[in-house]
Amino acid sequence: MRLFSTNKTSPSVGIEEAIFQGLPPDNGLYLPDEIPVLPETFWETCESLSFQDIAFVIANAFFKEEIPAEDLEGLIQKSMDFDAPSVKIGDDLYCLELFHGPSMAFKDFGARFMAAVMSYFLEKKNRKVHILVATSGDTGGAVAQGFFGQSNIDVHILYPSGKVSDIQEKQLTTLGENVKAIEVDGTFDDCQKLVKTAFLDEELRSKLNLASANSINIARLIPQAFYFVYTYSRLKEKHFPIVFSVPSGNFGNLSAGVIAHKMGMPVHRFIAATNVNKVVPEYLKTGVYESIEPSVSTISNAMDVGNPSNFPRLKALFGDKFEDLSAAISGYSFTDEETKQGILEVKNMYDYVVCPHTAIAYLGLNKYLENTKERVSSVFLSTAHYAKFLPDVEAVIGAGLPVPERLEELLDKEKVALSMKPDYSLFRAYLDDLI
Ligand SMILES: *Cc1c(COP(=O)(O)O)cnc(C)c1O
Repeated sequence: MRLFSTNKTSPSVGIEEAIFQGLPPDNGLYLPDEIPVLPETFWETCESLSFQDIAFVIANAFFKEEIPAEDLEGLIQKSMDFDAPSVKIGDDLYCLELFHGPSMAFKDFGARFMAAVMSYFLEKKNRKVHILVATSGDTGGAVAQGFFGQSNIDVHILYPSGKVSDIQEKQLTTLGENVKAIEVDGTFDDCQKLVKTAFLDEELRSKLNLASANSINIARLIPQAFYFVYTYSRLKEKHFPIVFSVPSGNFGNLSAGVIAHKMGMPVHRFIAATNVNKVVPEYLKTGVYESIEPSVSTISNAMDVGNPSNFPRLKALFGDKFEDLSAAISGYSFTDEETKQGILEVKNMYDYVVCPHTAIAYLGLNKYLENTKERVSSVFLSTAHYAKFLPDVEAVIGAGLPVPERLEELLDKEKVALSMKPDYSLFRAYLDDLI
């Protein structure tokens, strides 16, 4: 399989190169020349397959030239070892719970699979790599957990001091071993700038093997298609068309859903649900793309993105045709006040507690259903466990809520992080020490 850059000026590459490069030199995004279509027989019989079986079929369609089937099966078994249940909460209404992985957010799927695949390629070449990540919250936790214990990969996570939640900070700073946390005395943008400067530092890169793990990496996108297809396989017997509502920030998750669709998965409609950083819903309405910079802070902060990095990929998946994209996706956006009402409504109507991001997916679904007469199976994606956003959710519901043991235990662990001023010469000295 060859992958091209959406900016079309960098040469096409194989999937291994795309994974280690992350971004093509022309700053586009890698996308397969052709999305592989799975055979009819797969779609007819997929209800009898397990999550891991389905994951294997999808991954194999992308990796079969580079990873032998038995090795790929092993990587799937190892990395996809948690569930993605669609919980029925009302009539024809399902919540796809994507928070059963180690960091309790959907980013675990991408991070764990990517770590397993990278480590596999590195082992074969007997090489080592350093991953640099800047995080404003959830990405760091998933990457830390995903790469923890991989002997040929060290992860260096930069986060802004005092600007991530307690739980998020503990997820980054308590693992140790190959996961190093750097607490930057500055903003998320400062962290990102340090990482970007390091990637552009040719002298450093000639001595140190660097890679990124952010959401534009194709190895994070592919595993996110697994759970769309798995959900389809479990709901297809109902014979109603399926609507997926996806709470979106950088639009990796929705891009993965569209990839699943292009592989042959029947979908009635996708819903792009956002907070007030509503670049894509506005685009769907007007055909005009206008970024919001700087992005607006909200209580669904993992979606505070004013210039979604996966948007060019989403467009390219529809051949850059606005009519095709807007025929497949509806967009809706919600304020914090509406988000809080959404949390309350789900609790009162269905006795189910959602995080602010999930509430936005639920609200987007409802908006869409108001205007449709057809009977559909509706699925809203739950991208994080509510306990990761406990203070906000408890305040809305007006009561204390149980916290899963996995998160509770974290709070007692000791934080280990290196403090650093946002100054590249300091970060460069830190990296020089790794050589
Ligand atoms: C990252 C994240 C999102 C947004 O996902 P994208 O793929 O960037 O659109 C939504 N909810 C939660 C909880 C997240 O961590």
